[in-house]
Amino acid sequence: MHSAAPFVPETHELSELARAARHCEGCPLYREATQTVFGSGRPSARVMLIGEQPGDQEDRAGEPFVGPAGRLLDKALTAAEIDRDELYLTNAVKHFKFTTNERGKRRIHKTPSRTEVEACRPWILAELDAVSPEVVVLLGATAAKSLLGNDFRVSRHRGEILHAAGLMSDRDPVLVATIHPSAVLRGRSQTRDEAFDGLVADLRIAYATTRTVRSEGSAGSGTFIPAAKPVRR
Ligand code: SF4
Repeated sequence: MHSAAPFVPETHELSELARAARHCEGCPLYREATQTVFGSGRPSARVMLIGEQPGDQEDRAGEPFVGPAGRLLDKALTAAEIDRDELYLTNAVKHFKFTTNERGKRRIHKTPSRTEVEACRPWILAELDAVSPEVVVLLGATAAKSLLGNDFRVSRHRGEILHAAGLMSDRDPVLVATIHPSAVLRGRSQTRDEAFDGLVADLRIAYATTRTVRSEGSAGSGTFIPAAKPVRR
């Protein structure tokens, strides 16, 4: 069975986790990718954003959300009046999965398989424990399924306040699922504005929740969806 678990050190230090992740061979994706793209941002962020996987530009740069989807996300964060520097950003899968076009020059994104997402989940759980965010924004189906199980549908539950059992050792973070910024880029031009506005609205909901958590000590009632059993070891 593929799993990153043997490569994840017992530490809450993000820098140590990132160092260890460079050598992960928990699934076959490390073979073709340039490098591991670990999360980055504020180590004590109240809000953590999780995307799907690094894209072509992220794979070359070694940083998450620096390509076209990252630029779209920046626009959405600005529209939602959220400072990217206050966030921690990462992906459900840390290596770029791709196929090449006929000439073998262009690398084309391929959606990671369920097995690959599950293999990489120990890194997400370790990042959650290290950052200990109040709110986690799941950008797209892959991130949402990684933490909420394979039956979860973003289209049915986007923008809702969600909880999942046992994700972190010391906190029960609020989860908010929404679309991935690349879905806005890929959408038809007639619906692109609407999709962008939807993403901004969901980001606002997530960010506003941090204020509720701080002032009331809880995010209040939400839809309870049990996570697939977190597997770290
Ligand atoms: S995708 Fe995740 S589990 Fe697979 S090799 Fe990369 S870091 Fe390890």
